[in-house]
Amino acid sequence: MGSIGAKEVPVLLSPEGRRIDGRRLDELRALKITAGALHEADGSAYVEWGANKVMAAVYGPREVHPRHLQQNNKAIVQCRYNMAAFSVDERKRPGLDRRSQEISKVISEAFESVIFAEEYPRTSIDVYIEVLQANAGTRCAGIVAASVALADAGIPMVDLLPAVAVGKVAGEIALDLKKEEDNFGEADLPMALVPQSGRLVLLQMEGHMTAPELARALELGVRGCRSIYETMKQALRERYATGTGAEPQGAA
Ligand code: UDP
Repeated sequence: MGSIGAKEVPVLLSPEGRRIDGRRLDELRALKITAGALHEADGSAYVEWGANKVMAAVYGPREVHPRHLQQNNKAIVQCRYNMAAFSVDERKRPGLDRRSQEISKVISEAFESVIFAEEYPRTSIDVYIEVLQANAGTRCAGIVAASVALADAGIPMVDLLPAVAVGKVAGEIALDLKKEEDNFGEADLPMALVPQSGRLVLLQMEGHMTAPELARALELGVRGCRSIYETMKQALRERYATGTGAEPQGAA
């Protein structure tokens, strides 16, 4: 370990090119998706991705609250991303802080571009994303969970929306950063991809990378999204095969 000021900096990349958890630069963390994890929502999904645990629930199309947000020609898409107070090691102040508001806004905009909102005028499609345990990449895990939950709710969409963060770690472009890599790495680039068209509908960057590094990061991220897309589709296939999602057969 080296140190910067008071913070201990872990060795992020071994001489053999292995990351802090043994992954190669182009490897994703383990991803498990359960579609239909909740009874009361119109659609839901639970995602475990590395040490991230995220639940998404969808309600709607339903009446718009507050009423003045209603649009006559289409549904509005309202996403709320929230990190539970117990989701991080230092207790987070409960409630919607500026970060959560910003993430909620960019996720709403990403989904607005894939949902056929004009099919449901004067309604709201409400998406709740609850981060139960956080280890970097939670906005992407939230998008993946929300996307499967929207499909589970039967909301018509152009496509599912896989998402992943790529970053720069110890001078190298790496797929799907975990917390230490996010904290001590040089850059973080979350993205969400519409697989059928290849369109990116969310792209944010923190930190610095060169233009060739950015090109490499996009290439790696798009490949990562396509792999995540397969896991998302599989989760939905399993949901429809059993009809019960995470619930044991016969549960009320
Ligand atoms: N984090 C935290 N407290 C906070 C916000 C973030 O501990 O109030 C951690 C958490 O593990 C999160 C990571 O920092 O996943 C990276 O946060 P970022 O804002 O980059 O968003 P994310 O990568 O989760 O989409």
